[in-house]
Amino acid sequence: MRYWGILALKFGGIALLIRGLWLGLLWVLPAPHAFLYQNFRPFGRDLTWTVAMLVVFLLATGLVYLAVADQIFRCRKCGRRLRMPVLRGSYSKMLQEGRPKIEYICPYGHGTLSVPGTHFQGRDPRVWHSNKGLWENLVAADRGRG
Ligand SMILES: [Zn+2]
Repeated sequence: MRYWGILALKFGGIALLIRGLWLGLLWVLPAPHAFLYQNFRPFGRDLTWTVAMLVVFLLATGLVYLAVADQIFRCRKCGRRLRMPVLRGSYSKMLQEGRPKIEYICPYGHGTLSVPGTHFQGRDPRVWHSNKGLWENLVAADRGRG
């Protein structure tokens, strides 16, 4: 729940920032005067307006991209940034052992994210493995031993 809350907060912050930027832009760049008594929309007709809209659009899409890219490497339970990337597998033995993976772990041990170390065509599957609690792992290990 916290994971999605962080994403919603990021999107809300971006929306507020872009809205504020847009209102500031409207204040700085008023709509152009009517031409031959026709009020055309300035987008596509006035170069300054069109460039300003392009810049705001690029800024908004860039911020959304950064927010989503940041969200991928967050813990699904607590929302903290995943840390300690560890390479699993070997690039030199890729044909025998399969594709190497990079694993990121939550600093509080909630889970690990496995990201393929090689990129082929298509979407690379990122797999999230949720870890059990410390005591559950200890009890399961003790049952396996006894
Ligand atoms: Zn966590």
